[in-house]
Amino acid sequence: MKYFILNVFIVVLSFNSQAQELKKIDLTKSTHVKTSKITFKSYDYDTIHLIEAVKELSSDKFEGRRTGTKGAEKARDYIINRFKAIGVKSLNESYVQDFKFEVGTKNYNAQNILAEIKGSHYPSKYIVISAHYDHEGIKQGKIYNGADDDASGVSALFAFAEYLKSHQPKHSVILAAFDGEELGLKGAYNFVKAAKENLVLNLNMDMISRSNKSDLFAVGTRYTSALKPVIEANKIFGKVKLVIGHEGLTKADNWTHSSDHAAFYDKNIPFVYFGVADHKDYHKPTDDFENIDQEFFKDAVQIILNTFKEFDLLNL
Ligand SMILES: [Zn+2]
Repeated sequence: MKYFILNVFIVVLSFNSQAQELKKIDLTKSTHVKTSKITFKSYDYDTIHLIEAVKELSSDKFEGRRTGTKGAEKARDYIINRFKAIGVKSLNESYVQDFKFEVGTKNYNAQNILAEIKGSHYPSKYIVISAHYDHEGIKQGKIYNGADDDASGVSALFAFAEYLKSHQPKHSVILAAFDGEELGLKGAYNFVKAAKENLVLNLNMDMISRSNKSDLFAVGTRYTSALKPVIEANKIFGKVKLVIGHEGLTKADNWTHSSDHAAFYDKNIPFVYFGVADHKDYHKPTDDFENIDQEFFKDAVQIILNTFKEFDLLNL
């Protein structure tokens, strides 16, 4: 992410226009609606594993994880091995979903990685938790490690896997590590197009490990108002302030199409995108592990997990 030119275009088109309300969620059918405030800090996942994962995925040996490269292949192996070690199964026979696309004259072979945890109450309804593992690769001899963008989101997928392995969700969950995001959200669009499952919600994480003002933005409740109380009930966790914004309601830029959640939005599927404002190392070779804020990151993953737990209590 993010596509500034596209953003400007969308802001011009959508500013002051009516928000399109995505597929309605009928809360009267929900058996539990919990919006308890977390007043003490505790983590539902292993924070050491989280930091190890982001350090590993943003190390030079993955060569910036550009789609179609050896580095991306290594990242894929690492992600699959983590899912296996945690004990979450693949969505289909294989964890890998192959797809092809073209950008200009260049053809790409790409692979999404998809894991599944079956739900206890609504097994045929799927919440997709996503992050992209590809990044910019090597340019002019410099490795773009993409620690924040988006090794942070992929590492959070493992935290979700750990939690869900021991806490079966009510809805089924797909953990999706998408490819080809930096080349135009290709993995997410391919996934949504090919999905046979009933996808009821997407939680997309892209850049969640640092923030100058401690803000983590939640984008998407403008389109699905039933999701808003959950975000509003989880405003603070530790260092992180969760802020609704960047939805095109003010002159601030509109992030509706800034990352993989756009593929869900375009199919009328409710989504919440979690991400920080662009920072000085955004899409620079300095987006390195050393420059993330480990405390912010751990708290961001937990606050997103807390919102997931409450979304899962709704009948989506
Ligand atoms: Zn990104």
